Amino acid sequence: MSNQTGNDFVRDVYPNLPEVERVRVDLAAAYHLIEYFSMSDSIYTHISARVPGDKEHFLINPYGTRFGEIKASELVTMDLDGTIIDDPCDMGANPAGFTIHSAIHGARPDLKCALHTHTVSGVAVSSTQTGILPINQWALQFYHGVSRHTYEGIALNLEERERLVNDLGRTNKILILDNHGLMTMGSSVGEAFTLMYNLERVCKVQLAVLASAQPINSIDSSVCESTYEQYKHFAEISQRHGFHAEWLAYLRLLERVSPTYKE
Ligand SMILES: [Zn+2]
Repeated sequence: MSNQTGNDFVRDVYPNLPEVERVRVDLAAAYHLIEYFSMSDSIYTHISARVPGDKEHFLINPYGTRFGEIKASELVTMDLDGTIIDDPCDMGANPAGFTIHSAIHGARPDLKCALHTHTVSGVAVSSTQTGILPINQWALQFYHGVSRHTYEGIALNLEERERLVNDLGRTNKILILDNHGLMTMGSSVGEAFTLMYNLERVCKVQLAVLASAQPINSIDSSVCESTYEQYKHFAEISQRHGFHAEWLAYLRLLERVSPTYKE
């Protein structure tokens, strides 16, 4: 984008799209990026987004598609009771995905997107009692604001939804599903994705440090606190003209490596 401004790029990716269509494009992009960065799990796990408007509807992937195959026009629309409102490919949706994602969208209208992964590093850290250790700069982004939810089996029991949202709390955007995987959420698809990208990297580093079996440098708690605040500040200023700067960079990457997401 040598001579292209950020706003020009936004117009190219979202040509006159109403907000409801932008959310579809963003959600499909997040699926492609999760696959591109090797965070997918075959056809499993989900990313969901709240449909803008008054209705309590959310978008999720058609069951059975690889994340890199997903197209914006083929996403499934569901309501919070699990009724499928629109299913362009007639493929349905995964009931376990419905349980977890409907819980979050029903309880936290501030969250427009919920992203769940099963990666080796994420599942490994979710299986430890310590969770995220504050042992490097990247990890300090998660010094606060991380919730945990005890494993109850594959999430098919709708009664689990209440416990899950109680564990998440009213403000947190990170949820470690114990012995299972990771969840990040955001006020936009871009925020949820960038949080997951960073969280996944933190889990990988933590496992590498622990595998080294070397003594670990500790970081003073006052430095942990101030660095966490610095990350919060950077996250706020990354929003330019209503767009998440880091997210736009990821969309430019997709234009090159996987442009079918927006079809
Ligand atoms: Zn899962």
